[in-house]
Amino acid sequence: MLESTPITVAHGDGIGPEIMDATLRILEAAHARLNIEPIEIGEAVYQRGVSAGIEPAAWDSLRRTKVFLKAPITTPQGGGFKSLNVTVRKSLGLYANVRPCASFHPFVETKHPHMDVVIVRENEEDLYAGVEYRYSDQETYALKLISRPGTEKIVRYAFEFARHNNRQRVSCFTKDNIMKLTDGLFHKVFDEVAAEYPDIEHSHMIVDIGAARLADTPDRFDVIVMPNLYGDILSDVAAQLIGSVGLCGSSNIGEHGAMFEAIHGSAPDIAAMDLANPSGLLLGAVMMLVHIGQGDVAELVHNAWLVTIEDGVHTPDIFHPGVSKQKVGTREFTEAVMRRLGQTPQQLKTVRYRSHGMSPHVKEVRLAHSSVKETVGVDLFVVWPTGTPDELAALSKKAETDQLALQLITNRGVKVWPDGQPETFCTDLYRLRFLRKSDSLKLSHRDILTLMDRAIEHKLDFAKTEHLINFDGAPGFTMAQGQ
Ligand code: NAD
Repeated sequence: MLESTPITVAHGDGIGPEIMDATLRILEAAHARLNIEPIEIGEAVYQRGVSAGIEPAAWDSLRRTKVFLKAPITTPQGGGFKSLNVTVRKSLGLYANVRPCASFHPFVETKHPHMDVVIVRENEEDLYAGVEYRYSDQETYALKLISRPGTEKIVRYAFEFARHNNRQRVSCFTKDNIMKLTDGLFHKVFDEVAAEYPDIEHSHMIVDIGAARLADTPDRFDVIVMPNLYGDILSDVAAQLIGSVGLCGSSNIGEHGAMFEAIHGSAPDIAAMDLANPSGLLLGAVMMLVHIGQGDVAELVHNAWLVTIEDGVHTPDIFHPGVSKQKVGTREFTEAVMRRLGQTPQQLKTVRYRSHGMSPHVKEVRLAHSSVKETVGVDLFVVWPTGTPDELAALSKKAETDQLALQLITNRGVKVWPDGQPETFCTDLYRLRFLRKSDSLKLSHRDILTLMDRAIEHKLDFAKTEHLINFDGAPGFTMAQGQ
């Protein structure tokens, strides 16, 4: 007898319990070899005052099994609660979020009958690092974090995934025309990694035109790799393009574990009404079965599900008169899939998982990079609620030191001194850029502290500082708009 694989299962909130029951019933009927450890996460745990939404005992189970099948949960708004999804992904190092979105034409109504896209979304960095600050009455900041090893891992994963699944092309979307350092690094690493995969076509697009093309002609794309935020948004767009957000499953892959889920949320508007489409979670579970080496069961479940869709047995979210044949609730849909176990679709492509899986392994990060660093100045962010930029410049010049001189002042990234435009709208937080007085000066941390001491003497209310560093002679900071 084949051994069972231990997995951790959470039933979640809203429609979570209904779609998880549906999924587990189908897996049981397909004789999936699973040893299920249930854990509680989400709303009830948050309400017990656990701000992360997950108890220590649940972490123990996740560390033991390293495989997590998770129904969606409801994140309470405000009140210091952290998103459980983001916490689990980041704590377990689940860096790759893989979201396949393929049309089921002509059985599910869609404008894009030939769409077959896999979005590979970076899962740990970008604006989802969750590092946010308020510095003044008027300004808040979020840190957009893009690292070289984090980017290399996700881009390499996208190319390995393409190779593993016989896909021809990997596209990359960024906004590096605006975010030259962060998205610029993502694009650069994409080009470097792509050079190692000459058998796979690659291209880069600015995310806005990429998104427009994805919505208009998705069949031109195959695998798309993106930083976290763009990937999150565009994978929902892609899912909706094939007919419903209820149709897509996703895997979150890392070196120390994997999590499988639907891409949608807990849909509280239809909870406990027997209306939810369990397909997203079921297809997430199919990805899990492949991941744990039960391709035989994955194949059985996926093909039975395709036959159900082909037979026109549809939940309300994908029901279309003329295309669908029978409108069913969650339970009836589940039973319809169970009855079809062992069948293969007539028109939709039969799925085969026995010989090749979907979770490639990324070898270690290889594109190491070390550079010569040189501090060349500092930006002081100063709260200045009432005066003009010229008055602020006059005061700031008094804080100059033997090493550092005021070069410019910006507000919301736009130069306002010297030679600012009178029309520029200013908030209460200004950035003062101090640069070394000559290129031959070697600046130390002490020189920056001396400047800050002088700023304090002159009552400059600074709320944040950023060191300005050159790497191999190239600035590790951007110029101001209008500079
Ligand atoms: P949602 O995805 O829950 O729902 C959006 C719309 O799609 C709703 O009209 C809903 O009825 C419909 N829908 C979603 N899944 C469906 C399904 N399986 N079958 C039929 N219709 C379905 O998004 P939301 O309303 O913005 O978020 C609700 C809650 O879910 C929020 O608390 C949010 O934080 C949470 N959320 C959780 C996850 C997760 O756990 N992975 C992901 C996204 C959102």
